[in-house]
Amino acid sequence: MPTERRSLIMLFGATGDLATRKLYPAMYNLFKKGNIRDHFAVIGTSRHSVDDAKFRDIVTKSVNDAEKKADKKLVADFIKHFFFVTHDVTDLEHYSVLKDKAEELDKEFKLNGNRVFYISMAPNFFGTVAKNLKNQGLLSEGNGFNRLVIEKPFGRDFESAKELNDALSHSFNEDQIYRIDHYLGKEMIQNIEAIRFGNTLFEALWNNRYIDNIQVTLAENLGVEERAGYYDNSGALRDMVQNHIMQIVSLLAMEQPVAFKDVDIRAEKVKALRSLRVYNVAEASTNFVRGQYAAGGNGKEYREEDGVPADSNTETFVAGKLLFDNYRWSGVPFYIRTGKKLADKFTRVDVVFKKPLVDIFSFPQDGNTLLSPNVLTIHIEPNQGFSLVVNAKNGDQGFHTEPVNLDFYESSQRTQNTPQPYERLIHDVLKGDGTNFSSWPEVANAWKFVDQIRRVWDIQQPMFPNYLPGSMGPVAADELLARDHREWIYKLNQ
Ligand code: NAD
Repeated sequence: MPTERRSLIMLFGATGDLATRKLYPAMYNLFKKGNIRDHFAVIGTSRHSVDDAKFRDIVTKSVNDAEKKADKKLVADFIKHFFFVTHDVTDLEHYSVLKDKAEELDKEFKLNGNRVFYISMAPNFFGTVAKNLKNQGLLSEGNGFNRLVIEKPFGRDFESAKELNDALSHSFNEDQIYRIDHYLGKEMIQNIEAIRFGNTLFEALWNNRYIDNIQVTLAENLGVEERAGYYDNSGALRDMVQNHIMQIVSLLAMEQPVAFKDVDIRAEKVKALRSLRVYNVAEASTNFVRGQYAAGGNGKEYREEDGVPADSNTETFVAGKLLFDNYRWSGVPFYIRTGKKLADKFTRVDVVFKKPLVDIFSFPQDGNTLLSPNVLTIHIEPNQGFSLVVNAKNGDQGFHTEPVNLDFYESSQRTQNTPQPYERLIHDVLKGDGTNFSSWPEVANAWKFVDQIRRVWDIQQPMFPNYLPGSMGPVAADELLARDHREWIYKLNQ
């Protein structure tokens, strides 16, 4: 039997897109599995004038949209835990209404004073809400916990992130703050630690003696769609690299934690990020490439999308080379790339091992091919699994080698039953496990790195648009690796 977690969840932005598309279905799954059951209550708030009945309709629709055959009786039980308070977060006086409601529900559902405050609103409200929660006396006193969940983005550069963090620190300690990076809730991202630290085969070789380079690709095949307003102010560097990619890279680069606990894992991730080389202007220009998509297929070019200024220099693609100045990784580039309107939608990590120092099977006169590097690919999405390329004899009469693939993919049934990121992450918050959230030192170091690239890009005029929809980005992204006599493992038409 799963352990039931007791808590009030006060949700700011309860009528918004994220809440209705992701958060209610995630909570419902936790309810279905018994992780939350009798002793939880949700106070939804937003400026909208909604009563409990209407709110419960919203939650029901959201669950039914996510799960076509949701059990009606279970959904009916679930929504009895949902209450709504119309509340403008800037209205100081009105916090007392939230406070009274929290106390009433705490008694009714026997919540032991445990409170989760989830801010699913535009980022400019994060600091205001956190401050008001404390100043207006909403934090639980006594033995109950107070936890704050913050959505992305966490600032738009180091300075603004620090300002936000200072505002949050006024009300919450670092160990009470859960900064969401939903990539950290993905099954195969969490599997990176299992693959590395659960297998002598990999961890023993996980260093610059045996690894040639590591490649991380987060590809999307859609354009900006309806998010142009947000996206044009952000761009791929801020939207994807500073958070998701930096988190994945730190999991790949970190040392083995003392134990599989949030404090120990965070300590190692921070250490790795601190050894990431922060580039000077020349290095940033050489080691990072940006792109913006052109028109193609039936789609418009980025600058013609609704809500995008015609002279926008916002990048929809980034590729870069990251270098860690430490004993384990000295000399091993981590290549990263992400972009919109690429060939396909997928996320993968390719760990490229060095070839054997001597290739005794190379008989050019017989037309034999050279040995391939061993490549461990971690397929994060849509397929979940990993594959390993090894060299083997090809079965001919002569002695010819060929690369063969050892594949493991989760079955679609297992994948379907795997909790979605928000389900895991909300569960982690209720358990008080910060492993899969970004800590402030991680966020700060990631911003310091990314700011340097941004600074250089802000003073240089890009040649946009520079890649076609359906490609894998601008030619310069291939040249970035070609300069190092390498190539991307994932290429088009694979
Ligand atoms: P949204 O605009 O759809 O919802 C915002 C909510 O805030 C609404 O309920 C609105 O009524 C409420 N609100 C606005 N001003 C208010 C005020 N003054 N007082 C009280 N309530 C107010 O936004 P969203 O897409 O749900 O995003 C929420 C957060 O989640 C943002 O930080 C966003 O960056 C992040 N996020 C969203 C998604 C997504 O898929 N939507 C994905 C990742 C991260």
